[in-house]
Amino acid sequence: MADSPTVYDIVVLGGGSGGYATALRATELGLTVALIEADKVGGTCLHYGCIPAKALLHAAEVADAARDSERFGVRASFDGIDMPALHTYKDGVVGRLYKGLQGLVKAHGITYVEGYGRLVSPDTVEVDGQRYTGRNVVLATGSYARTLPGLEITGRVITSDGALTLDHVPRSVVVLGGGVIGSEFASAWRSFGAEVTIIEALPHLLPNEDEALSKAFERAVHKRGIQFSTGVRFAGVTQDDDGVHVSLENGTTVDGEYLLVAVGRGPRTEGLGYEEQGVRMDRGFVLTDERLRTGVGNVYAVGDIVPGLQLAHRGFAQGIFVAEEIAGLSPAPIVESGIPRVTYSEPEVASVGLTEVAARAEYGDEGVQTLDYNLGGNGKSQILGTAGFVKLVRRKDGPVVGVHMIGARVGELIAEGQLVVNWEAHPEDVAALVHAHPTQNEALGEAFLALAGKPLHAHN
Ligand SMILES: Cc1cc2nc3c(=O)[nH]c(=O)nc-3n(C[C@H](O)[C@H](O)[C@H](O)COP(=O)(O)OP(=O)(O)OC[C@H]3O[C@@H](n4cnc5c(N)ncnc54)[C@H](O)[C@@H]3O)c2cc1C
Repeated sequence: MADSPTVYDIVVLGGGSGGYATALRATELGLTVALIEADKVGGTCLHYGCIPAKALLHAAEVADAARDSERFGVRASFDGIDMPALHTYKDGVVGRLYKGLQGLVKAHGITYVEGYGRLVSPDTVEVDGQRYTGRNVVLATGSYARTLPGLEITGRVITSDGALTLDHVPRSVVVLGGGVIGSEFASAWRSFGAEVTIIEALPHLLPNEDEALSKAFERAVHKRGIQFSTGVRFAGVTQDDDGVHVSLENGTTVDGEYLLVAVGRGPRTEGLGYEEQGVRMDRGFVLTDERLRTGVGNVYAVGDIVPGLQLAHRGFAQGIFVAEEIAGLSPAPIVESGIPRVTYSEPEVASVGLTEVAARAEYGDEGVQTLDYNLGGNGKSQILGTAGFVKLVRRKDGPVVGVHMIGARVGELIAEGQLVVNWEAHPEDVAALVHAHPTQNEALGEAFLALAGKPLHAHN
């Protein structure tokens, strides 16, 4: 067995959002890095997640615009989806970003190792018989689409991986799981012309959002002709040449051409030697302290394998954090609730900070104030023809602790909410900052004005 003579400052196992961010930041700080990746640098987000899924959703927005064009006095018609062309567009976006990322990895002088790695000691990862040793090791092996016990992913029963590569628009789809991924695919397929039914076991779609957003989302989805059942569990599925027949525990059956299983993502940690090396695990997730240390040697973990929000930008932030920690910069720990969350459906849903329920649990009923600002009063939202609202949650006489929004394009507005929440700004401070007119951002500005006690275009 040939051993690599080099000892790297960091050996990173997994080249997705968390792993490659660690590698890029570490090399910027003068550290030497080996980045081990079994598939393609960029990981789930770039190749099978965020980017291709959002390309589909953008195509869906274009389809909706064509279908609704008359409303804006424009003559156009929606004649259907050209799937090969849609894939060319989507794959083109992914391909350009992939090329750019490969260039960055090269330019940073990162030792890129193609292959499947296993942790064989707290400072060593083995790939095809070759050992890579680091003064620090960062585990970043990401996640895979989970399924339910007994529910096999085969044929017409697919996960997001299959959904991104379908060669036609399905006639009808049953979506199991009304979380972010399920809701996004449901939204895109509906825009493309499919009949869609979502099945969600919890009481609401987008169950992790503030209930006001979940309920508004359900109303919007219903209006778009997407069927959904909440608080109901999946019982079983059969498939034949016609499609899938999904039975629910309440005795009803739903048919579709495909069943998309979108019940969450499991950590990709099995058989990688983590447990054998003493890394503490919980249901396959790697447990860390707030400095992302596993407690074994100098082994850290980042991204979807660490319990919490499974989001690419959390992976980026954790990767940067770990690189800076190893370089001795003592960065401030990442506050999980300060990470923005966006569902890129139509309408979009975006939030950061605490929900009203979480804020009340933390500060007591008397310690919390909320405000809803309806997008009906926002000029740009009227121009776009979108409905929705901004909901602010603040500590009484204190900072804004939660920003929640629903409506077209609100995902792009969350940046301001995120600054306000993470800088613990008071509405009175933010109200003095001028927002451009007419923008959707103004809706946030108006909400801050209203919460500061000086509403401008507010009816409530
Ligand atoms: C359909 C979909 C849409 C999504 N949309 C969004 C979105 O809009 N915004 C957002 O923030 N997040 C989104 N996500 C989530 C996002 O993709 C993940 O949070 C992110 O990719 C996690 O990064 P990671 O580095 O932890 O893991 P991953 O990106 O999964 O990367 C892990 C990498 O490790 C490699 N690997 C695993 N085991 C080994 C091994 N033994 N040896 C070598 N290499 C290995 C894998 O090949 C992979 O490339 C989406 C996910 C999906 C599925």
